[in-house]
Amino acid sequence: MLTVEHIEYLLRDVLGINVQLIKNITIENERLHILFQDFKYTEPCFDFENPELTEQDFEMLDSIWNEIIKNKSNDIGLKSLYTTIQPQNIYFLKLAHYFANEHYLGKPVRLDNHNRITSNSVYRNIHKYLNFPMVDILSDIFNFNYLAINKQEGTVYFTSDFDYINLWSYLGFLKTCWRFLKHIIFLRRMLLIEEFWSYLLSKKHLSRNFMLTKSMFLFKGKIGKTLNVKNIGFLLVEKTHKKYDFKNDYKQLSFKEYLNNIMGNVSFGIHPSYNTRYNPDSLKTQIETFEQIVFELPKYSRFHYLNCCYPDDLLPLEKHHINQDFSFYFPDSLLFRGSISRPFKQWSYTMNRTINVEIVPLSIMDITLSQTLKLSFDEAQKTAQEKIRISLLLGRTCVLLWHNNGMYEPLYKKNYSRRIMLSIKNYIEEIGSIL
Ligand SMILES: [Zn+2]
Repeated sequence: MLTVEHIEYLLRDVLGINVQLIKNITIENERLHILFQDFKYTEPCFDFENPELTEQDFEMLDSIWNEIIKNKSNDIGLKSLYTTIQPQNIYFLKLAHYFANEHYLGKPVRLDNHNRITSNSVYRNIHKYLNFPMVDILSDIFNFNYLAINKQEGTVYFTSDFDYINLWSYLGFLKTCWRFLKHIIFLRRMLLIEEFWSYLLSKKHLSRNFMLTKSMFLFKGKIGKTLNVKNIGFLLVEKTHKKYDFKNDYKQLSFKEYLNNIMGNVSFGIHPSYNTRYNPDSLKTQIETFEQIVFELPKYSRFHYLNCCYPDDLLPLEKHHINQDFSFYFPDSLLFRGSISRPFKQWSYTMNRTINVEIVPLSIMDITLSQTLKLSFDEAQKTAQEKIRISLLLGRTCVLLWHNNGMYEPLYKKNYSRRIMLSIKNYIEEIGSIL
């Protein structure tokens, strides 16, 4: 059953409507009514637990989808698309709810080997809409037509997951010897010398620690007039899984120096360890460790391996006053999970309330390009640019995740992480100037 509380939640936490503009919400004669200052919005009631799309809903979605395709190569057309679509017969709340709370997942959901939901779970007839941030578009159409509000400023987040902060501690003695031996066999003399010195000095000297780089961040307040820049590093502070976690030593001098260097330009968040979802009580000690490193409590979180189940795995974050989660993503594809780029909140059916942690959907993770989709450098560059373009022209938020270790090019063969990040930064400057 749909309630006034549900309606308020969808307006405020999914569509991003300023609730101060709402005078009254009622449910009468099987319809919901929202009274704003000088007009009334109404749409038929829907089943909040199990919203189903009707033929008319599909027609409306298709008309938006067709407009996007028509303007696909036209930046200005995409940017102002929301001003050209007529809002009549679009049931904004139901559609936004359907996507944002993931009612498009077939049951049972398909999980990968880390127990994460993959894009294979999405109903076939819904798949194509997830190529775009439909919820952002719905929000913009609603705000523009009914409340005379233009699209708000956007934000691009440069984020990095610090899974390990010292390559040599991570590899251990035997694997380090093996790496050096391969350098000798393949006559990589310079690399051998560099890495040998790093092996000896990386804990003490920042310049010798290749894992502690700034190159995945952008130290700039704003790009163009309306695009904000934010940098966040997520720190893995506990080992709960033998294979997938690493116990970092944040006391090493090089890390302290690194922290001092970037503290003003980079915020830090917690990177809950692999098994946190199965043992949420462990978050408390992780937060205590985090606080000893950064001297503040975490406001942001991204689950290591994006290992979590939405929405209820956010409850431990809420309990510890962590405001934002950055893990929302399909690990196997670049579709817009939830068909949304903007920060939003999900509804917990088990708690029967909103979970008070803002989800900031992840747009691109570095290893999706290189390891999951196995793209060449040129393909990866093109694919990343297109996702950023769509995120910023049709949506308003773009979250990039580049791991710190990948920025060290010689780490493994054909590692283009650093080069892609460079080209992405240039591209964002370009697209930021037209936003
Ligand atoms: Zn991680």
